[in-house]
Amino acid sequence: MIPYKHEPFTDFTKEENKAAYLEGLKTVEGYLGKEYPIIVGGERIFTEDKTRSYNPSNTEETVGLVSKASKEHAEQAMEAAKDAFKTWRETDPSVRADVLFRAAAITRRRKHEFSALLSKEGGKPWKEADADTAEAIDFMEYYARQMLELKDGKKVESRPGEYNKYNYLPIGVSVVISPWNFAFAIMAGTTVAPVVTGNTVLLKPSSKTPVIAYKFMEVLEEAGLPKGVVNYIPGSSSEIGDFLIDHKDTSLISFTGSRDVGVSIYERAAKVQKGQTHLKRVIAEMGGKDTIIVDSEGDLDLAADSIVQSAFGFSGQKCSACSRVIAVEDIYDELLDKVVERTEKLTVGDSTNQENYMGPVIDENSLNKIKKYIEIGKKEGRVVAGGTTDEEKGHFVNPTVIADLKHDDRVMQEEIFGPVVGFSKAKDFDQAIEFANDTEYGLTGGVISNNRSKLEQARKNFLVGNLYFNRGCTGAIVGYQPFGGFKMSGTDSKAGGPDYLILHLQGRTTSEML
Ligand code: GLU
Repeated sequence: MIPYKHEPFTDFTKEENKAAYLEGLKTVEGYLGKEYPIIVGGERIFTEDKTRSYNPSNTEETVGLVSKASKEHAEQAMEAAKDAFKTWRETDPSVRADVLFRAAAITRRRKHEFSALLSKEGGKPWKEADADTAEAIDFMEYYARQMLELKDGKKVESRPGEYNKYNYLPIGVSVVISPWNFAFAIMAGTTVAPVVTGNTVLLKPSSKTPVIAYKFMEVLEEAGLPKGVVNYIPGSSSEIGDFLIDHKDTSLISFTGSRDVGVSIYERAAKVQKGQTHLKRVIAEMGGKDTIIVDSEGDLDLAADSIVQSAFGFSGQKCSACSRVIAVEDIYDELLDKVVERTEKLTVGDSTNQENYMGPVIDENSLNKIKKYIEIGKKEGRVVAGGTTDEEKGHFVNPTVIADLKHDDRVMQEEIFGPVVGFSKAKDFDQAIEFANDTEYGLTGGVISNNRSKLEQARKNFLVGNLYFNRGCTGAIVGYQPFGGFKMSGTDSKAGGPDYLILHLQGRTTSEML
């Protein structure tokens, strides 16, 4: 077995790589506008009611017309998943891992097609799309290896005359509700984790990015995944989402999305339904309001680069994105100037065009929400860069910097999920940590400082799940930086980490008298 290593990012300055992406784009353009079925127990079902998935860079372009599952389909899918569970739970874990290894290899061969599809359907610029595809591959490679480590359980002691064993068993049907912002990586990661651990899945991808999830189903089928192990059921939350969360036969819900939906799932899942014979588990990855602290003893160019990249990469539509900067007062003005200067150089436009650093935001609701916060920001502080939109063909928001906010202003507290970063001043490093912690979220954070004792102070007191020193706060790598947050950011399930698969398993002790 080759040791795990993350999938390298593509260097698009190389002509051959550029050509490979463009070739992928051509493939995607060949299937734009097609109709897609749901997949239940391996059966493809076309429904009347369809979701139109479109390109947020060019809203007239249809990426696909995707069938929507009704409640009846969701029930059928539940039956198929329960049925498949009977054999999948007993399938040798190394065989399950092999399906993931092969799916990773197939994805790698079609890498640039997937990235181009992410550019079209999710509005991801080249580099961001490439990282999303690479992360999907990483999840498969990493979780497959993790399963091989867990398959014989863990060591426990035995007394003389006794033989104790400690193993892990799958738990049942998992409902996976995946987001549009990592439409491939998180969708694939949250699907293959229950699969490799022997559970079966009802996959409800985001209705903004259902086509990439369909393409992933093709990969899983080609990799030899038996029918019914993953059922693809895009549909509306009100029609099938709540129904599946409440279903008595659901064992696990793995959700990535907004705080409000996550909280509601957590509450609903707690209720034991008639006929339910277990407690449901919930994995919830929710929002963030992530801060980079810049200290007076920090490298300000590094700070500015880190802020710009973390705030505006994929238009700030990452729960890890930097949306708050807390800068110590003696360097505040200088830092702000450096960030504004860099922000003004960023290019915004069609995400399939290599020249653009930023693409669109995902949809009109999102655009309107961001505009609303820019208006709030004008009252609470001072817009020093951006603040404008271009809505002619797509949903474009220019990268926006809002200065002179109080750390508890709305722009500094509420998740905007767009290319907007707010700046506040702190009188010293202690106060910067205090302000940074003063949000209900606790996902990522960064500290830019060359003072070791301040970094150590942050390590102890800055309460976020992913804390980064002297770098940006996005871009966690599977197997290197397990990802997940504290507080209202979720259940801190640490995707891509060594404790993740266990969340999909139940530990079983067997004790035999010899
Ligand atoms: N894992 C991603 C990162 O480290 C963020 C995931 C998300 O936004 O949901 O940037």
